[in-house]
Amino acid sequence: MTIAIHPSIDRGLPPAAAGFPGGTLVCKCTDRPVRVRVDSQSAHNHACGCTKCWKPQGSFFAMIAVAPRDKVTVLENGDKLKVVDASATIQRHACTGCGVHMYGRIENTGHAFYGLDFIHTELSPETGWSPPTFAAFVSSIIESGADPANQDAVRAHLREIGLEPYDCLSPPLMDAISTHIAKTTGVLKS
Ligand SMILES: [Zn+2]
Ligand SMILES: [Zn+2]
Repeated sequence: MTIAIHPSIDRGLPPAAAGFPGGTLVCKCTDRPVRVRVDSQSAHNHACGCTKCWKPQGSFFAMIAVAPRDKVTVLENGDKLKVVDASATIQRHACTGCGVHMYGRIENTGHAFYGLDFIHTELSPETGWSPPTFAAFVSSIIESGADPANQDAVRAHLREIGLEPYDCLSPPLMDAISTHIAKTTGVLKS
């Protein structure tokens, strides 16, 4: 059985290019597409099974990475962008024309990931972005309609293609969040 994870991942991703300067994310609109410039290589790219990330049609996983927020600039047709859920931790700026999420931004300065914008590098025609290295929130694909009975096969396939499956974020990212919280509460002296 062939298990589809995500169109970009399934076709095999090119490796990160040395000194990759970033690229331009373009939404799916044929008329007045939104263009967002990312002047940086991506980091922490991963497949994400959560229900909040934007996914291509028919895919249970998103492919999502981060870039420094000061490197992310809306170039064109930003008037089409609207925040999907203003109450969410990540403010996902989506195109009202095609529904694609162009960037997700954390406005809470106390958050562990404040300063990083969430981006989908598949929206850029440039190659050389950092490829995904793990899969997050794998359990959650069930909430999007995936058959719970297939989860073992999905996890086995993810491992086969080198994306270790986790049901939250990866251990280094979960550790980063907890370290940030422990420093904030004073439990951990920096
Ligand atoms: Zn659009
Ligand atoms: Zn997600």
